[in-house]
Amino acid sequence: MYEVLRKKILAPRIKEMDVYVPQIAKSAKPGQFVIVIPDEKGERTPLTLVDWNRDEGWVRLVFLEVGVSTMKLGMKEPGSTLYYVAGPLGNPTHVEKFGTVVVIGGGVAIAAAYPIARAFKEVSNHVISVIGARSANLLIYEELMRSVSDELHITTDDGSKGMKGFTSDALVALLNKGLKPNLVWMVGPAPMMKACSEVTKKYRIKAIASLNPIMVCGMGMCGACRVKVGGKIRFTCYEGPEFDANEVDWDELIFRLKMYQKEELEALKLFLSKYGLGGDTHA
Ligand SMILES: Cc1cc2nc3c(=O)[nH]c(=O)nc-3n(C[C@H](O)[C@H](O)[C@H](O)COP(=O)(O)OP(=O)(O)OC[C@H]3O[C@@H](n4cnc5c(N)ncnc54)[C@H](O)[C@@H]3O)c2cc1C
Repeated sequence: MYEVLRKKILAPRIKEMDVYVPQIAKSAKPGQFVIVIPDEKGERTPLTLVDWNRDEGWVRLVFLEVGVSTMKLGMKEPGSTLYYVAGPLGNPTHVEKFGTVVVIGGGVAIAAAYPIARAFKEVSNHVISVIGARSANLLIYEELMRSVSDELHITTDDGSKGMKGFTSDALVALLNKGLKPNLVWMVGPAPMMKACSEVTKKYRIKAIASLNPIMVCGMGMCGACRVKVGGKIRFTCYEGPEFDANEVDWDELIFRLKMYQKEELEALKLFLSKYGLGGDTHA
């Protein structure tokens, strides 16, 4: 059960993993996620479904090693198994022909933007993708994003590839050139999505964001993933993960993401003192 079939290092600390879970592969839809428990003492870790194959029964996950759970996952080799994989969770992305759709992906979440851009393209939207990373060596899924986009724009914080700046800067540049998108869809670090939604709000563009709060149960029972959208409390796992980006209380989300920082750091220190950084983690 839950066998790791393949593993690939995409960039330093970013790994792609195909896991055999036929029951999830069978019903997965763009925008949904799974909760993975790496081993029997492990935490529940939400990860987006990046791809899947219904005939072969696997799902593809792409993750950034930021703490103990994602590092434990990164240490799994093909042939080993994960303790548990629950899903598909969350609501699928609402896909229809809107016209021109801008799909924005930042950092490791560029992989999460891929099935969405593909789905929008499949129903004949004009898809303009904007992908950004801190530096060129951390930019993943460039060719895959290009293959499902009519236009692809790249940004890096340090200017080592594409436009120097953030995805929100590229969005402003496109809008200033006269682009009038029918929808902007975004996924990435919360500060990035906050910056992009400040732009969409200003220009009065319909915008959807896929949120990534701390999550425990993933099925609406605990409320750890609560966010404020349009002044109302919403559970991301059950009512999301996508919400109207122009209505999200970003500062609260960013604050809540840091709630366990002290404990996370302690756990990471203990873990690293036992296992080190792992030999294969540097691309
Ligand atoms: C719906 C959803 C989809 C996600 N998809 C992806 C993905 O495809 N790829 C990817 O790399 N990451 C994804 N994440 C984030 C990922 O779940 C966290 O990076 C992971 O849980 C961190 O666990 P850790 O033990 O390695 O790190 P920790 O040391 O526990 O935490 C490090 C950082 O991760 C955040 N974090 C910790 N636990 C959680 C949690 N349970 N849920 C969300 N954030 C957490 C913390 O705020 C902290 O900033 C997603 C999160 C959500 C909610």
